[in-house]
Amino acid sequence: EKNQLKFKRVLLKLSGEALMGEHSFGISPEVIARISKELRDAVRLGAEIGIVVGGGNIFRGVAGSKLGMDRVRADHIGMLATVMNALALQDALLSLGVEARVLSAIDIGNVCEPFVRKRALKHLEKGRVVIFAAGTGNPFFTTDTAAALRALEINAHCLFKGTKVDGVYDRDPEKYPNAKKFDRLTYHEVIERDLRVMDHAAISLAMDAKLPVLVFSIKEHGNICRALSGKADATLVTM
Ligand code: UDP
Repeated sequence: EKNQLKFKRVLLKLSGEALMGEHSFGISPEVIARISKELRDAVRLGAEIGIVVGGGNIFRGVAGSKLGMDRVRADHIGMLATVMNALALQDALLSLGVEARVLSAIDIGNVCEPFVRKRALKHLEKGRVVIFAAGTGNPFFTTDTAAALRALEINAHCLFKGTKVDGVYDRDPEKYPNAKKFDRLTYHEVIERDLRVMDHAAISLAMDAKLPVLVFSIKEHGNICRALSGKADATLVTM
């Protein structure tokens, strides 16, 4: 089965929203458990998986600064929110017997390991799921950008962007029922048409390194494994 993988090493971006499920805030234990089971299956297929988790289900820096907070401090809170999500995901993975480590871009050594590239690579080679927490460690960035960055640092074959819908559309498919889905897109098309795949900094990083980006629905059970074998209903962004 192992040679059925189209992508052996991937970086999966999970937004905070993806972990929220039907709730309007925080973490859904059911969703985290389901995603963890899929990750267990993916590891069994021989995939090496890094994950960047978002924090928007708990706190966003922009929202904080709109309420009058200092933006940098608000972003620190946002990054700490991603650490909470990372720990929840790690916990769910460990309870299924899946080895998982959290590596944080912000020094928080009592809680998890620091992000050190070499360590990340070692964990991946040993088949451990590596959860990258605290984004890039810098304010004014997003976890999308962190996902592109970490994908490049771990030499991922593809950046997996798990979303609510099964790919990229010309218009919001939840609002426009006849919105058209793209099977393939170039980085340029994404930027020019301002398609909301990831923010521009993330797309630029991917484009410079020719890192393919696969956008698919994380809500559909089994999609992570399908994406790994190139069989998911998705949009592929390349040169
Ligand atoms: N954040 C940051 N630097 C980073 C990544 C994230 O400051 O490199 C902060 C920022 O405040 C952001 C919050 O963490 O709003 C949560 O991340 P994001 O909004 O990307 O999460 P998602 O939308 O994926 O849930």
